[in-house]
Amino acid sequence: MSEALPDHPPARQRVLSGMRPTGALHLGHYHGALKNWVRLQSSHDCFFFVADWHALTTHYQDRGEIERNVYDMVIDWLAAGVDPEQATLFIQSRMPEHAELFTLLAMSTPSSWLERIPSYKDQVEKNRELATYGFLGYPLLQAADILIYKAAYVPVGEDQTAHVEVTREVARRFNRIYAPERAILPEPQELLTETARLPGLDGQKMSKSAGNAIAMRDAPAVVEEKVRTMPTDPQRVRLGDPGEPTRCPVWPLHELYSTAATQAWAAQGCRSAGIGCLDCKQPLIQAIHKEQEPWRERAESYLANPKQVQWIVEVGTERARAVARKTLREVRTAMGLAY
Ligand code: SF4
Repeated sequence: MSEALPDHPPARQRVLSGMRPTGALHLGHYHGALKNWVRLQSSHDCFFFVADWHALTTHYQDRGEIERNVYDMVIDWLAAGVDPEQATLFIQSRMPEHAELFTLLAMSTPSSWLERIPSYKDQVEKNRELATYGFLGYPLLQAADILIYKAAYVPVGEDQTAHVEVTREVARRFNRIYAPERAILPEPQELLTETARLPGLDGQKMSKSAGNAIAMRDAPAVVEEKVRTMPTDPQRVRLGDPGEPTRCPVWPLHELYSTAATQAWAAQGCRSAGIGCLDCKQPLIQAIHKEQEPWRERAESYLANPKQVQWIVEVGTERARAVARKTLREVRTAMGLAY
């Protein structure tokens, strides 16, 4: 006997994630975040936003750059396979509701909670220009971003769990002071998903500012040139010198892109000096080209039709706004501001 289907499919739990529009997205963004977004969009109610206010907390003097990157980044998302039919895409600064919740939450949030976030002190010590109120308030703005959608999950890397913890503390304090009978702001959980950490061309963290990135939409010839000129095991000076893959910045690319058989071929060839470094890099160049093909095709169609991208963001922003406004009404009422 078959089971009767429920009248309504169970509601999908909401996931919220944002990205700062600070430049063309690269393979590190794809493997570290976007691939996961694409995976989550069919199982969760995903809200993905362009965190342009967050970009301003650190790049407040680069006005033009942020502006240029906003829609370009959305095209990178769509190129990667983010589906606007399944996920809600929007721009943070188009949602003043986030700013209102940020202000209201600021009233009850002790400043020491923000000052003690490890990355805050480190970064301000390194760069005094970051000693701003906006940068201090960044985790609280992030809390507002999350809580306004009552997100159940926030996908994070291991180094960002402190920010979600602050969001939970902010929600807990708000609920205790203003909504002791029925918690209004649910505490989100981290979604620690398996993502690949892809080092840059020099073996350090891949970032555009370090000049060691392969952009998602780099042309095939550019990718080829970048990989061919990557440094290799420093102890492998001549072709006849045996190398050690674990000392080589190229190796993590093999771990990510190559089959077990190709990895065995490369490792054996390296250790026995049976292959040259350019031979070793060739399958990687091909694998990256193959990965980029569908991205390029999708991006081309969106680049040819910028109005479509704007429309996608427009629809997403309105969808997000309906949720945000509902939460704000509850928050205002709880705080005695519903007049
Ligand atoms: S053969 Fe491959 S793994 Fe070995 S040093 Fe050259 S590029 Fe690196």
